[in-house]
Amino acid sequence: MDRRVANTSLAGVLAFGGLSRIWRYTGDLAGPRLASSRGGGPRPYKGKISMKEQTHGGSCFCGAVRFEVTGAPNVMGYCHCTDCAHWSGAPINAFSLWAPQSVKVTHGAEHVGTYAKSPGSQRKYCSQCGGHIFTDHPAMGLVDVYLTTVPSVEHQGALHIFYGEKTLAVRDGLPKYRDLPKDFGGSGVEMPE
Ligand SMILES: [Zn+2]
Ligand SMILES: [Zn+2]
Repeated sequence: MDRRVANTSLAGVLAFGGLSRIWRYTGDLAGPRLASSRGGGPRPYKGKISMKEQTHGGSCFCGAVRFEVTGAPNVMGYCHCTDCAHWSGAPINAFSLWAPQSVKVTHGAEHVGTYAKSPGSQRKYCSQCGGHIFTDHPAMGLVDVYLTTVPSVEHQGALHIFYGEKTLAVRDGLPKYRDLPKDFGGSGVEMPE
């Protein structure tokens, strides 16, 4: 997710429960791992998805920085925005948004560098190897963890965002938003695959 995702209007959206809806939606689409929590309305933020609060280890490319994620992300998807592509050097960023308390650096914190092209996205990387670790989105109160650095957590995306900026089409049947869903403060316009 890029700076446009983490702006103040999104914070406003989140404040009145936008994410809760997305989150329920994620539960419906993300398969059996999240399915046990299905049913009922939006849950309080801390309730999250009621899977076991398992802890998974991740690391940067060289291993100097190690971190843990606990529980489950609130939402997973694919971002096609030019910022994500430019920073990652890849056409698509598989994002997963976690509550900040679910993400903890356990080793090598002194090697964690931060780059913020805009205040909404504090991008964290290893200063030794340059490997990406996660991006803090303070205005959203969420952390985007690059799950390829956490081998034991499967990325199960529920939607594609900024598909209007795509360089690679993905025909996986998931919703494709030109920018962002309305719940994320976007236009809500969907595009063909
Ligand atoms: Zn992005
Ligand atoms: Zn490293």
